[in-house]
Amino acid sequence: MHTPVRKIVIAGGGTAGWMTAALLRKVLQQQVEIQLIESEEIGILGVGEATIPPIQIFNQYLGLDEKEFLRETNGTIKLAIKFENWRVQNESYFHTFGAPGANLGFCSFQHYWLQAKKAGMQASLWDFDLNYLCCKQGKFNKINTPNPIYELPYAYHFDSGLYGRYLRKLAEKSGVIRTEGIIEQVKTDAESGFIQGLQLKSGEQIEGDLFIDCTGLRGVLIKQTLGVEFEPWNHFLPANRALAVPTERFEHTSPFTRSIAHSAGWQWRIPLTHRNGNGIVYSNDYLSDDDAYKTLMGNLDSKALDEPRQIKFETGRTVKQWHKNVVAIGLSSGFLEPLESTSIHLIQSGIVRLLKIFPNQGISQHTIDFYNADSQEEFETIRDFIILHYHMNERNDSEFWKDMRSMTIPSRLQHKIDLFNHSAAIFNDKNDIFRDASWLQVMLGQGAKPQDHHPAAAVHGDAALLDAMHKLLSAKQQPLDKMLPHDEFLDRYIGR
Ligand code: FAD
Repeated sequence: MHTPVRKIVIAGGGTAGWMTAALLRKVLQQQVEIQLIESEEIGILGVGEATIPPIQIFNQYLGLDEKEFLRETNGTIKLAIKFENWRVQNESYFHTFGAPGANLGFCSFQHYWLQAKKAGMQASLWDFDLNYLCCKQGKFNKINTPNPIYELPYAYHFDSGLYGRYLRKLAEKSGVIRTEGIIEQVKTDAESGFIQGLQLKSGEQIEGDLFIDCTGLRGVLIKQTLGVEFEPWNHFLPANRALAVPTERFEHTSPFTRSIAHSAGWQWRIPLTHRNGNGIVYSNDYLSDDDAYKTLMGNLDSKALDEPRQIKFETGRTVKQWHKNVVAIGLSSGFLEPLESTSIHLIQSGIVRLLKIFPNQGISQHTIDFYNADSQEEFETIRDFIILHYHMNERNDSEFWKDMRSMTIPSRLQHKIDLFNHSAAIFNDKNDIFRDASWLQVMLGQGAKPQDHHPAAAVHGDAALLDAMHKLLSAKQQPLDKMLPHDEFLDRYIGR
């Protein structure tokens, strides 16, 4: 047990630090004191531009106005990720935030779709997905309808550095104390091992009851001070480097991220309102830094605005995300490559998890264990989803893709793939942020071919099924008339 938590100290002021400060302040109000320490001399990582839909909930909790948020962060709408060359070269598929088809009762839509294909239907799964149809036309608009077949879930592309600054204004206005300085020493209690205070280079001492480590890849508190081990996952996900470069914006802003696989590694392209974010993620075991540079610079399609910046990382997580009186949030807690834009979401879910079991009267081991088990499962399910993209490839043009295909994958993932191949069924893990529709799109996109599907899909006969499918296809087309080109939407909505 520990003393009641009356003062929280957040170490680090990147996206993680300011998201944490803003939400803790909003929820806990004046019940606790919050102080954040950051160092401009050290700076922030400053990449990270694509998100997934739950970010909307985070912004709503904070009471952010969506138009102001988009203006402040140079944000655009993200409906999907387009995966190019991932299964084989010169082929692509979308992982959208939508759900293809409709909820047709007992069994999921893919079973009806598979049965209809057997009966001669040509339409792809994605033809039934409004998010995909909007991506194809480069369009978006907000739809206000109670009919679930017209749901259009979306996230954002934005400049995460600007997002941090925006949240900083909000947090400071509501009473979070910001201190500029470098943490030089950490004082721990000899008996309990709990952190008592931080000493800055200036000599200033900052004490607290609960410490949130948002110091990025360094992990000043969780790794350097408490010595929590890091569990590497590079045997599954060997990428350990990225080169990031901004380029001029294109004439048209697409409402999706592009992920382009190369002979080793992959390249992202993220459209913001004022520029594009680009980068290549690779492993130096398979691609030299020089070749990564050439691959990136040779595939930009608009003028580079700077020289590429290299970032080195290790994939994996700290075995405990909460130890003693330190909770690690953000890159200090682990890193998964940005293939599915999940890091900012992991920040969000870490803060929400902490708030749900907030240790008001003191920290108990039960609380810590619950937090750690929950976050472990979340990290691992995301890891498995990312591995899926690499593992189910059919490329033969490099050792990299062959190695990815032949590697031993986590047993839960293998089970998921086997089940889908066998019967087109998908099961969800409790803490998996990616639901059926996401697994379905990536498995099919990467070439899975289920041998069977649910018998309920055949009960009404093929003629009735094909008729229903064609009606659904044309229903999905209807909202397209009300959609605007993405740029026009942004111009009208945020007054760009
Ligand atoms: P940082 O930004 O590194 O912040 C660390 C803070 O700690 C800074 O304020 C620093 O000054 C401070 N600090 C460190 N040491 C000390 C010290 N001793 N004393 C005082 N202060 C200290 N995420 C997504 O969700 N979507 C993406 O598309 C995406 N793309 C990415 C692409 C790449 C190549 C990489 C590497 C990451 C990407 N991420 C993405 C992850 C995203 O960048 C991070 O999750 C996000 O920036 C949060 O970082 P952070 O706040 O944890 O760390």
